[in-house]
Amino acid sequence: NKYSAEDIKEMASEENVEFICLMFTDINGMIKNVEVPVSQIDKVLANKITFDGSSIDGFTRIEESDMLLHPDLSTWLIFPWGSEHGKVARLICDIYETDGTPFTGDPRYNLNRILKKMKDLGYSSFNIGPEPEFFLFNTDEKGRPTLQLNDDGSYFDFSPVDMGENCRRDIVMILEKMGFEIEASHHEVAPGQQEIDFKYEDALSAADSIQTFKLVVKTVAKRHGLYATFMPKPLQGINGSGMHINMSLFKGDDNVFDDDQDMLSNTAKQFLSGLIVHSRALTAVNNPTINSYKRLVPGYEAPTYIAWSSKNRSPLVRVPAAKGKSKRLEMRSVDPTTNPYLAIACILDAGLDGLQSDYKLMPEVKENIYAMTEERREELGIDDLPSTLHNALKALRKDKFVQESLGKSLTNSLFAAKNAEWDKYCQTVSQWERDTYMPLY
Ligand code: ADP
Ligand code: MG
Ligand code: MG
Ligand code: MG
Ligand code: MG
Repeated sequence: NKYSAEDIKEMASEENVEFICLMFTDINGMIKNVEVPVSQIDKVLANKITFDGSSIDGFTRIEESDMLLHPDLSTWLIFPWGSEHGKVARLICDIYETDGTPFTGDPRYNLNRILKKMKDLGYSSFNIGPEPEFFLFNTDEKGRPTLQLNDDGSYFDFSPVDMGENCRRDIVMILEKMGFEIEASHHEVAPGQQEIDFKYEDALSAADSIQTFKLVVKTVAKRHGLYATFMPKPLQGINGSGMHINMSLFKGDDNVFDDDQDMLSNTAKQFLSGLIVHSRALTAVNNPTINSYKRLVPGYEAPTYIAWSSKNRSPLVRVPAAKGKSKRLEMRSVDPTTNPYLAIACILDAGLDGLQSDYKLMPEVKENIYAMTEERREELGIDDLPSTLHNALKALRKDKFVQESLGKSLTNSLFAAKNAEWDKYCQTVSQWERDTYMPLY
């Protein structure tokens, strides 16, 4: 391990840390935080801090609600923003039952479970490079995000470009202080939209980093008087925000997706076949909100069909031209509302299923899928991604394998939360409906 308990105590006192945030993630991908004063550090390091699990989505249990936080000491980090009360550090935690067993409804535990399965198959790491996108909006006097859309919805108020850029630079600087290796940060296609790419890491660190990243982006934006949102499609008519997931599988120092002769190794092709076979069910995990599906429509660089290609950027899975250590698959459907622990676990497990089965990989699609006729798509066996959360949940219902990737407890809480969300949405009458139907009927 990177740090011992003694190291943590030393760093805390040397840096005058006053508070420790004990962080974990609920089923919806929300960061939860139990903050304790540094006087509790011995209790923290002895895994003795408890919290009331019944107040957390997906954590409810009938018998008793106390749960234990086991901090992962390698995640120790001091936030670079101070407060008048001293410095704040964080530790990302695993959730345990009071009887000492890991809580199976903990998304981070579940990712570790699938990673163990991968290791048992002889692979040493699953590397993930995420490309999270987000929008920066101006705020009003009360600090609430503004969105002044023009009548036809094509013009809107957004932060002046320089404000957005200053904010983005500040985000990058703070992330670097926190140990992130930022490869690129740029303005995205849509106005007000930003992308910051950090270097790939092993799956667990990458999921932790995605959570930390979202927290930093929101915190820094707020200090700039802006509101950062990872909502997939905040504005109609322009590109939404995705979070492409770049992935590769390593055995020691060897990228087993790479091949001297071919675009992809056989292992990579088998892995990819698993992603394709389970892609409809994976959508429920990778695109878990109603709004996710407003991004997954034709015309805005987001995938809507199940296909793979090295030639164009429209398919579900792209094979970038890179070779050697950088050889990777890029899954382009994923958006930043996903719980990264769940998404990465399910993607990995689907790939592992490909390695252990002999699915026939559909051929690469080199043509533009959007320009094809329906007949042509059928001929090539190109299915579409679920078009709504409801359809994605139906696909997950049918895919027992992906349900296993989540485990019983997470599957049940996901269905409970998402069915409720869908029902609520169905009962909502939108302005679009009034505008469209009232004049007619
Ligand atoms: P794009 O061309 O899709 O915009 P980017 O350059 O923005 O891609 O991001 C590429 C991402 O892929 C980065 O996060 C990078 O670290 C990551 N990456 C590079 N090599 C690998 C690899 N072998 N496995 C996983 N991710 C990788
Ligand atoms: Mg990119
Ligand atoms: Mg790039
Ligand atoms: Mg992008
Ligand atoms: Mg990309």
